[in-house]
Amino acid sequence: MKYRPLSLPRVPAAQQVTANLLADPVTPTAGALVAMPVGYPSLLRRARFVQNGAHFSYVSPLPLLFPYEFPAQNDQQGDQTTLGEQQKSEIQAEQEQDSDLDDAQREEKAKANAVRRMDQIEDILRGYEVQIPAPGQKIDPIPPRRRGSGCPSARVVAFSPECHTQCLPHLAVGDVHAWLLANSGKEGPDTYSSGPIADAIAGGMPSQYGEEAGDDHEARRAFSDWAAGRAVPLHIQSDQINSESGPGVQFFNEADANEGWKKPAEETPERYSTEVTKRVSDKNRAYGPYSLRYGGHQFGEWAGQLGDGRAVTLVEAWDAESQQRWEVQLKGAGRTPFSRFGDGLATLKSSLREFLASEYMAALQIPTSRSLAVTSLPDLPVARESLTSAAIAMRINPSWLRIGNFQIHSKRQEWESVRLLGEFVAHDLMHLDGVKKSSTSSVDHSLSTDSTDSSNSGKPWSERLIREVALRNARTCALWQAYGFMHGVLNTDNICLLGETIDYGPYGFMDVFDDAQICNHSDYSGRYSYRMQPTMILYAIDQLLESLAPVLGFEDIHQRAPRPGELLLADDSQRAIWADHGMDTFAESIRDQLKNTLLSEWANAWLLRLGVQSQGASQDKSQLIDPLVDLLTGLDMTNALRYLCEFPTTDKTVSSFAKDWVDYAARESLSENKIQSAEAWLNEYSQWLRASPQSAEDIASHMRRKNPAFTLRNWITDEAANRLEFQQDTAFVEQVRKRCVHPFDDLQGDDIRFQDIGSELTCNLPSCSS
Ligand code: AMP
Ligand code: MG
Repeated sequence: MKYRPLSLPRVPAAQQVTANLLADPVTPTAGALVAMPVGYPSLLRRARFVQNGAHFSYVSPLPLLFPYEFPAQNDQQGDQTTLGEQQKSEIQAEQEQDSDLDDAQREEKAKANAVRRMDQIEDILRGYEVQIPAPGQKIDPIPPRRRGSGCPSARVVAFSPECHTQCLPHLAVGDVHAWLLANSGKEGPDTYSSGPIADAIAGGMPSQYGEEAGDDHEARRAFSDWAAGRAVPLHIQSDQINSESGPGVQFFNEADANEGWKKPAEETPERYSTEVTKRVSDKNRAYGPYSLRYGGHQFGEWAGQLGDGRAVTLVEAWDAESQQRWEVQLKGAGRTPFSRFGDGLATLKSSLREFLASEYMAALQIPTSRSLAVTSLPDLPVARESLTSAAIAMRINPSWLRIGNFQIHSKRQEWESVRLLGEFVAHDLMHLDGVKKSSTSSVDHSLSTDSTDSSNSGKPWSERLIREVALRNARTCALWQAYGFMHGVLNTDNICLLGETIDYGPYGFMDVFDDAQICNHSDYSGRYSYRMQPTMILYAIDQLLESLAPVLGFEDIHQRAPRPGELLLADDSQRAIWADHGMDTFAESIRDQLKNTLLSEWANAWLLRLGVQSQGASQDKSQLIDPLVDLLTGLDMTNALRYLCEFPTTDKTVSSFAKDWVDYAARESLSENKIQSAEAWLNEYSQWLRASPQSAEDIASHMRRKNPAFTLRNWITDEAANRLEFQQDTAFVEQVRKRCVHPFDDLQGDDIRFQDIGSELTCNLPSCSS
């Protein structure tokens, strides 16, 4: 059974993010996405501090140029004046007219005019949001303004069948993959897959938005409208609109939204628990897209509220067969309350880079988020270092929660939010034994925290949760080191709780090995250089420890999880005592465990690449791996290790192999010394090979499955992005993508040039937030 995107099965309600965590009070339910437009639709995308301990904010994807440029109203001549320009000239004219008014009069008039101008913008934005349906009618997922020329037309330019079959096999995508390849190199109206141009060509909107698959062509268009952020995946019954969404409008008052976060002292734990209880128990709960609220340390400095500034989660999809959850997210789909000064958009190049890297990493079996598709918005310009065109990446992960999600709540003293988030992660994402979600139990006002009665609360979760985050990320980071992956921006908001590599930005795969390599050109100090990555994971885990320290202490003292209210209602000095106790008891052992795991996983990964067995941790490191890493300096990492796969079965002498090896893997000819070191290392390695019970042929064929022939070099992503942007060359993207998903196959034909080291790794890397 295949489902159209808008009817894709969702994670059971009790395990949904939006049912377990707290919504932004400005959009208290998904119904606010219908109700808000009646009031102030701009609030959905105005940068603001999200308050009341909220974990997320409901928001619809809306990829538009920002600052918004709408056509002038009453623009009969069609002279393409923008509303902004029209308003500017109005303001000038008003200033001239009003010169004879006194100050107070002038101020009053200016205020009224400003409100009128704001209303004009609100009115336009309203048309982009889901409308209240007529009685008895279903919600229309494509709001009126998304049908006309004010909506950018879109074109699916990359698709991963592997991600499709491995993550969402039940999603109907129609003939999207064949279609995008058939359109390689073409331009023109019929190469658009979504938006008004595609509608005009097809003679209407795709049918059956919420229904079963249907024909290939229609399914492709429905998929494309979803992947382009045009269709709003909102699930709400018409009778819920008034009762549920009312508060969204009433709650809002401008001062609240702008003054900053509300002091937690004004919060009561009851509010938290009633809100969550209400939602978890509501079987017909409305469901809609959202962005997460998080904070983070950027380059070692606390940066306050960050959040999904250009990412919107469309659905928490559920694969019933594998019992696996997949949060489907659009990146670059427009402004959210967390966009700060950004435009909410992403460039075609950065979207394609994320797509290729995540599919490559998955093929190397390095934990990573996945990418299903890239949709280009050729007519939507985005301003970065230069003007370029926009695109949206559709990416998938079991959860998009990061270390920064805990940090924002602990920094803001939102202890109920910390507790709810911890229970959700421990219970629903990590499935830790004995954890109980207390969202349905009542608040304990007695504060008898000396009670060790655990009848009403689950087992402690904080220590186990932190260890899990640490171990998963240690394993991932060890693989980064062994495969030469550099993330580039290991801020705590880019480190996933479940350990997958996420948020691909100015990443790089090592070419000529240099352990001081920095692949982010705004990282002046080398904080996120290749060799610093393990240290930065340790730093991030320290931040998580700090965020959860009071819980750690509480749980160790009471041998049970905190109940609703217990953390929040305690005073600062009590929490400080718990925090000190927690750090004293656990920090060192968690750090040690992290370091040991990093080291052992790193050594394991190298031993696997080399096809040999451990001879004891210290020999592995000092006799085999460290000298190899030294030797690799100045050699192309991928080519050198792939060539080494020939060594177990070679007829050459060690010294002639050493010479050929270095010649093959060096960018320029290297010194005699290098060849001598290679020879020495190969002699040592021979002994390890001889100690192996496996035959030389078996070792070599095993090595060819651990040492890729292909690596995603920066020049390759650069060329693919340029050919895509300027020549609509989806065929080349496909050629690279195929190599990414089969990295262990020998390169042949046209692909042999992918071995070339080419230009330097750091040439033309995109900046962080492009
Ligand atoms: P990054 O380090 O690229 O993962 O981004 C850091 C923060 O900036 C995150 O909160 C992003 O959501 C936000 N951000 C990055 N680029 C943009 C953009 N173009 N518009 C809005 N927010 C952005
Ligand atoms: Mg990020």
